[in-house]
Amino acid sequence: MEPIKKLFELHETPLLKISDNLLADRGINLFVKREDLNDPELSGNKMYKLKYNLLKAKDERHNTLLTFGGAYSNHIFAVAAAGKRFGFNTIGIIRGEEHLPLNPTLNFAIRCGMQICYLNRAAYRNKTSAEVVDKLRNQFGNFYLIPEGGTNYLAVRGCEEIVRSIRINFDIICVPCGTGGTLAGIIAGLNGKHHALGFAVLKGASFLNNNILKLLTSSGLLNPTNWNINLDYHFGGYAKIKPELIKFIRGFYEKNGILLDPIYTGKMFYGIYELISLNKINEGTTIVAIHTGGLQGLEGMKSKFAFLNK
Ligand SMILES: *Cc1c(COP(=O)(O)O)cnc(C)c1O
Repeated sequence: MEPIKKLFELHETPLLKISDNLLADRGINLFVKREDLNDPELSGNKMYKLKYNLLKAKDERHNTLLTFGGAYSNHIFAVAAAGKRFGFNTIGIIRGEEHLPLNPTLNFAIRCGMQICYLNRAAYRNKTSAEVVDKLRNQFGNFYLIPEGGTNYLAVRGCEEIVRSIRINFDIICVPCGTGGTLAGIIAGLNGKHHALGFAVLKGASFLNNNILKLLTSSGLLNPTNWNINLDYHFGGYAKIKPELIKFIRGFYEKNGILLDPIYTGKMFYGIYELISLNKINEGTTIVAIHTGGLQGLEGMKSKFAFLNK
């Protein structure tokens, strides 16, 4: 078993400059921070979100982690891997009903030793209520609860470190937003400098602003203004995928050799490219886009990514 502090050793991931006619034409520098390469299993932002939570769970002598997610969740995948590596039992509470055969994400989780339980959608919606949590404690005994997507103030602390590992000067740092926990950490890490731009992957995600303000406040940061969230690139909502998005991801892969996922990073890069082509980003701007990982989910959508097998 590995000590958790291994996760605290600096993972130096590449910062790659993208060359593209559009970028050259508009005078924009675009870099990708390859956090998808930071760990084979705890890949991307989920590693940063988990590390201080894992440490706290160990400090409090918990043996079991319990968390929530959808059936394809990158977070479920990461928690299962972390449990196996650092010696926790893990329980994954999955939204909805069981579908057999199990998808690759849940198969992996089970291979890691995760106990999978399903919660109907109505109860799942109330998963943060004392009633549902008490029921879970009656059923499973004591556990360290990690919220859905891993977002809490310890996740914010972890994600600050994504910023610290970027050693070039830049103007804008971009990240896709589900719950907004990662963006909150990046804003905290910026400490008032530069600008953070989030791309919401959920439809109607105006709640994100409040979530992020709450997270920042609980982390002791009062009202930074150097950030905003773009709500225009959700492509119909969470996990909704349109042909033009797949086409973009394919083109990006063929040009740059970097694979994106259609749930998070694909939508962000699509948004960045469109904002640049619409001249909404000033000439001379240097952008760093965080590749937050999520590639494990591609296993479950092989038919849309047939181009990878050519
Ligand atoms: C979970 C996830 C996100 C969203 O992170 P939040 O902190 O919930 O906003 C972004 N990208 C990938 C690849 C993810 O797995």
